[in-house]
Amino acid sequence: MLGIYIHIPFCKSKCPYCDFYSMRCNDELMDRYLSALVDDIRETSAGVTEAVDTVYFGGGTPSVFGGDRIGKVLDAIRESYKLVSPEITVECNPSTTNYVFYETLFKAGVNRISLGMQSAVDKERKNLGRAADKNQVAKSIAEARQAGINNISLDMMLGIPYQTIESLDESIDFIKEQNVEHISAYMLKIEKGTRFYDMGDKLVLPDENEVCDMYLHFSRQMRSLGYEHYEISNFAKPSQRARHNTKYWRDEEYLGFGPSAYSFYKGVRYHYDADMEKYLTERKTVIDETGGDREEYLMLALRLSDGLVFEQYEKRYGHSLTADFFNKVRLFEKQGLMLCDEKHVALTPEGFLLSNTIIAELINE
Ligand code: SF4
Repeated sequence: MLGIYIHIPFCKSKCPYCDFYSMRCNDELMDRYLSALVDDIRETSAGVTEAVDTVYFGGGTPSVFGGDRIGKVLDAIRESYKLVSPEITVECNPSTTNYVFYETLFKAGVNRISLGMQSAVDKERKNLGRAADKNQVAKSIAEARQAGINNISLDMMLGIPYQTIESLDESIDFIKEQNVEHISAYMLKIEKGTRFYDMGDKLVLPDENEVCDMYLHFSRQMRSLGYEHYEISNFAKPSQRARHNTKYWRDEEYLGFGPSAYSFYKGVRYHYDADMEKYLTERKTVIDETGGDREEYLMLALRLSDGLVFEQYEKRYGHSLTADFFNKVRLFEKQGLMLCDEKHVALTPEGFLLSNTIIAELINE
């Protein structure tokens, strides 16, 4: 089954670390965008026969788009595609939510939110340009649950300015208190074109070793709280893995809508340019490449704790992995970076930290 991704490129302000395609919003622009999205969703459905089982609103900040507009997008999806027990996720910024908003989402069929917390330490959040304080994050979670949305993911960031293992423990305590279903924890990357990038040496960050320690500490603590570390940057309570994002990691197909959104459909990867005006007027897609080859599949499968399942690989590509591949795996296994049995091979949390190097080595067999 397919996933559908809807990009909502609007934010109240620009966070200093962010290089995503987003812009300030106003009602007139958001209404024009809604109309373009609805047309695109309807037109694209011609010729799509597969059912859809996940819908994900990402951004930007989908919560500033408003519950009513999100509901109208979902109506268009329901009219045009066959939805089967869908997981429907909306990314939210806790400074832009309230009970009425969540109630509107719930009535529209939304059953999961991903809340941009980044840190439960107010000073750290402030440095990231985040307006809501810890109490507002807690209030937002409570309001979502009260409205009936009981699958909540919190976004965390590691390696942010002034963060230490001790301050990370404050965030971990908050996660424990809130007992949310899912956590995404990404390491801060300084991207060109962001305010953090322009700050150069004036930006005080934990060093590489400290960030590695934080990652392993966070993984251990999450596992001790009953979360499964099921993907390099993702942790879930039992049966609460993110179904939509898991499609990306399993190299499955999805349709993306909106400027800068990517699709993978019928074996081809394509995208819309990051250009709102172009999307509103032309909506032309740009073909990137053929997707789903062996390298891509290996690279994505090894992001997951389930790892590479030999039977699935052989079914998909019609051949087994080579002796050279297993020789390398054995070396990584001896270093505690991989686990291998007769059915699958996977990275350990220590291996996740070196995933780029290990995967590159395995792919170049
Ligand atoms: S709210 Fe999210 S998308 Fe918007 S600027 Fe901040 S990090 Fe980027």
